[in-house]
Amino acid sequence: MCVRRLFQSSYFHWAWRAAFLKPMQQGTRRQTHSGSTYRAVIFDMGGVLIPSPANVAAEWEVQNHIPSGTILKALVKGGENGPWMRFMRGEITTEDFLQEFGKLCSEISKTSVPVDSFFSRLTSKQVAKQFPVMTEAISQIRSKGLQTAVLSNNFRLSDGKSFLPVDRKQFDVVVESCLEGVCKPDPRIYQLCLARLGLQPSESIFLDDLGQNLKAAASLGIRTIKVDDPEAAVKELEALLGFPLHMGIPNTRPVRKTMEIPKDALEKYLKGLLGTQITGPLELLQFDHGQSNPTYYIRLSSHELVLRKKPPGSLLPSAHAVEREFRVMKALANAGVPVPRVLDLCEDSSVIGTPFYLMEYCPGLIYKDPSLPGLEPTQRRAIYTAMNRVLCKIHSVDLHAAGLDDYGKQGDYLPRQVRTWTKQYRAAETSTIPAMERLIQWLPLHLPRQQRTTVVHGDFRLDNLLFHPDKAEVLAVLDWELSTLGDPLADVAYSCLTHYLPPSFPMLRGVSGCDLARLGIPTAEEYFSMYCCHMGTPPVDCWNFYMAFSFFRVAAILQGVYKRSLTGQASSATAEQSGKLAESIANLAWDFAVKEGFRIFKEMPATKPLRRSYHTWAGPQSLPSSTGTRSYSSVPGASSAHASKRALVISPEDLSPPVRELYDRLQRFMEQRVYPLEPELQRHQASAGRWSPSPLIEDLKEEAKAEGLWNLFLPLETDPEKNYGAGLTNMEYTHLCEVMGMSLYAPEIFNCSAPDTGNMELLVRYGTEEQKARWLTPLLEGKARSCFAMTEPQVASSDATNIEASIREEDGFYVINGHKWWISGILDPRCQLCVFMGKTNPQAPRHQQQSVLLVPMDTPGIRVIRPLTVYGLEDAPGGHGEVRFENVRVPKENMVLGPGRGFEIAQGRLGPGRIHHCMRLIGFSERALALMKTRVKSRVAFGKPLVEQGTILADIAQSRAEIEQARLLVLKAAHLMDVAGNKAAALDIAMIKMVTPAMAYRVVDRAIQAFGAAGLSSDYPLAQFFAWARALRLADGPDEVHRATVAKMELKRRM
Ligand SMILES: Cc1cc2nc3c(=O)[nH]c(=O)nc-3n(C[C@H](O)[C@H](O)[C@H](O)COP(=O)(O)OP(=O)(O)OC[C@H]3O[C@@H](n4cnc5c(N)ncnc54)[C@H](O)[C@@H]3O)c2cc1C
Repeated sequence: MCVRRLFQSSYFHWAWRAAFLKPMQQGTRRQTHSGSTYRAVIFDMGGVLIPSPANVAAEWEVQNHIPSGTILKALVKGGENGPWMRFMRGEITTEDFLQEFGKLCSEISKTSVPVDSFFSRLTSKQVAKQFPVMTEAISQIRSKGLQTAVLSNNFRLSDGKSFLPVDRKQFDVVVESCLEGVCKPDPRIYQLCLARLGLQPSESIFLDDLGQNLKAAASLGIRTIKVDDPEAAVKELEALLGFPLHMGIPNTRPVRKTMEIPKDALEKYLKGLLGTQITGPLELLQFDHGQSNPTYYIRLSSHELVLRKKPPGSLLPSAHAVEREFRVMKALANAGVPVPRVLDLCEDSSVIGTPFYLMEYCPGLIYKDPSLPGLEPTQRRAIYTAMNRVLCKIHSVDLHAAGLDDYGKQGDYLPRQVRTWTKQYRAAETSTIPAMERLIQWLPLHLPRQQRTTVVHGDFRLDNLLFHPDKAEVLAVLDWELSTLGDPLADVAYSCLTHYLPPSFPMLRGVSGCDLARLGIPTAEEYFSMYCCHMGTPPVDCWNFYMAFSFFRVAAILQGVYKRSLTGQASSATAEQSGKLAESIANLAWDFAVKEGFRIFKEMPATKPLRRSYHTWAGPQSLPSSTGTRSYSSVPGASSAHASKRALVISPEDLSPPVRELYDRLQRFMEQRVYPLEPELQRHQASAGRWSPSPLIEDLKEEAKAEGLWNLFLPLETDPEKNYGAGLTNMEYTHLCEVMGMSLYAPEIFNCSAPDTGNMELLVRYGTEEQKARWLTPLLEGKARSCFAMTEPQVASSDATNIEASIREEDGFYVINGHKWWISGILDPRCQLCVFMGKTNPQAPRHQQQSVLLVPMDTPGIRVIRPLTVYGLEDAPGGHGEVRFENVRVPKENMVLGPGRGFEIAQGRLGPGRIHHCMRLIGFSERALALMKTRVKSRVAFGKPLVEQGTILADIAQSRAEIEQARLLVLKAAHLMDVAGNKAAALDIAMIKMVTPAMAYRVVDRAIQAFGAAGLSSDYPLAQFFAWARALRLADGPDEVHRATVAKMELKRRM
């Protein structure tokens, strides 16, 4: 399109808009109360509001070794028709501009100039930032009723948006050259701006850094200020306008209508207080702060004060006690706590309608947004550290020396607080909030036993602190309305509320979901340990109780604010919202109560839920033999490994002393090292780094090894010399494996996880010495991991004879081709070995076609296509992969046992391997039942605890009975394997594979149901248990296949 036409069309466009907008703008013009003859201030952008392109260029040239002045020369080159001016009139795109401009710069400097880099710097957020002095000035100008405009020569960015890195809301009028097709110093653009402002030239002041632009404005009759230094320009502007531009009191606004106080009476009182020579006028502003007790800024003569008063109207009992605030601030100031200096307390309500007190105004910064935008990570950390330190200071005040012994009751703070806030809540209740009802019951039952007594602030949060403008120092702690004597940890928890609220949360902005590490903000846990460390106190375990209580209290406060908003008393415009917020905060509080319950449960390992107590009993009697040839009596009290090889030991108490000791050690390790770290391990599994092994698991593996809790799985009959494992019988291992099964993370920690255990046993049983040296050793050491590849997507793999992957002999190698899936562990970067099952001879009898090859994972031709998920769970880092094997060449010596022996090996491998799954399933069924029991004791529905509901009782009973049945069957199968061998135990093995996953599935399902929706969340291990139990109804072969096996054997036996 012709440039001229473009220009013309935009000219008409703006001329039309100017004509049309004029009367409209006039109609909406603000009333000024400045006394100034000027009605608007017009700002240029670059060089006035933000740094000038010339300055940015000069700096950039130095950094990039470009001859100085190149950019500036190129900017002016060509005058009206140069690339810069055309770019600013919106006539060329960014790409075209950069190309032309780059050429120009290179011509000028005789070197290649990376203008893209200059352009990104010019438009970067770090550079294109508004000068604070201008922000303040604009806000002052507008507060006096004058209009503001930005009149900018700017350009469009490559995304088509115009470049205007300032808050548009600051301006009544925005005029951008790239949108209008006209640039300064063309007089028309000034006229457009004036027309939009609805003003005559003489009614406005124009600030620009370029003489020619100012000259054009002046020739129209606009008053101009040349900006070389923004600070100096603001001073000049101040002089022209006749009112200060830098004196705004932050966080204040005109007094709200419902919160007005009689100015005359106040002025009279203040003159009496400060001296009669004081002359007016009295300036009164209201702070945004002070939701509960309205707070005002007062300037009278040279005095700057803050007045804090009770709200008007009838108030809730014991709330809004400004007298107490006055007292505590006075005492704390003497004790060295930074608080504003209090001057006077007026308890005479006749003066301004309610009692009030006065304090000195402290200028400083209040950080309203807890994410501290605009600060560097180190500054943010320093701010939070200063906040933490000042809290420690408050909590370290000597009550007696400060005269605050009787500032509140000593001891029993939390029970009293729970009662008080319950009462406050009840007094303000407008409708039933279910979570509040639950909390009212739960909190008194879970009070921490030990509580210290100190001064507590009661509303300690970042935006109640006044900071030094230049350093991370708290100048004053504000808003002492809720202060008393109490448990200091309540303050610490309260100051972490924002950590759990989203940034969008109204009234109390939070940082939940923000990347705290990147921001430099300590996590709630770090903040808490920072506090404990500074106070020299040990960490407190019932942190969640304090969080639940803090949120409960906030919910009660919000409900109070809401109730008052209904009667028109609340002092905040957002008070009405608080009703809805009370409910969501109560729900958050309940979340913490639930977590606390879970923590208590997890910390009970030494007591009942995690320790089995058996109701089943087996005396020394003969059990029917499935083969009819052996008898294996059940003899409790076996005392040696040898003895337990002959006896069915059903209770861990009856294990032989060394095995019993091992069992106890394992229990201790689980209690001390595994359960407490589960949340961290879970976080790793949900993190971006989940496909790498958790370093914590690696550490725990070392610890487990050092504790002798390593490779416990290898059965005695596979490894009679105890060369590789602990030499436990299958039955002994059943007891230990059940304990490991209680946490899904545990088996790997003890090097007892599938599929490695099966593969290791396979190597021990069938591997050559070379194969053992190469593969078994690193696996036993826990340095490598492995996978087992049998299942194929294209065939029903529950019937292993269907497997189609081919293993072909070629030049002394085996070449494999096939498509496998559900290969557990293959995605783990530590996975070095794939135990591969394929067909070497499809013509051989059905069970002799398959062979097993040991395939190094780094062999070319192995391609993992994708990870599969189980109900959305990835099981990282091992995962379950879909894999293609394409012409994968493996040395012939990697064959296990020999061609055609695959079926035989698979049966051998999967015997003990699968029974391990059953053992673990008993463990996590026990844990699910324990969780369920704890949960139903603490939750109330329809007037009574869940545990008293008949269906829940029935479910508990059913689960207990089913676990016991399955355990006995698993123990029996293990025992049979020990005493009669895997083959003789085939029926029992098939039975437990048929029974146990289905049992675990039902037990976990009942637990989830009793938990309500929480049971499905990742806050508890139940959902994962459930997915795993369900998966094991397939992963170890479908239930139906095991049933068919059992039925066939049963029919054979009976006939
Ligand atoms: C979490 C997980 C991990 C796994 N890890 C591995 C691994 O590491 N390596 C590996 O090789 N495989 C693995 N598998 C695959 C697993 O072994 C197979 O899914 C299983 O053997 C069934 O094979 P299929 O999926 O092909 O089902 P199919 O054989 O197609 O069977 C489908 C359904 O047919 C029915 N059916 C089959 N046979 C009978 C019968 N005789 N009577 C009546 N009904 C019948 C059943 O309902 C069965 O569920 C894993 C699977 C899961 C879920």
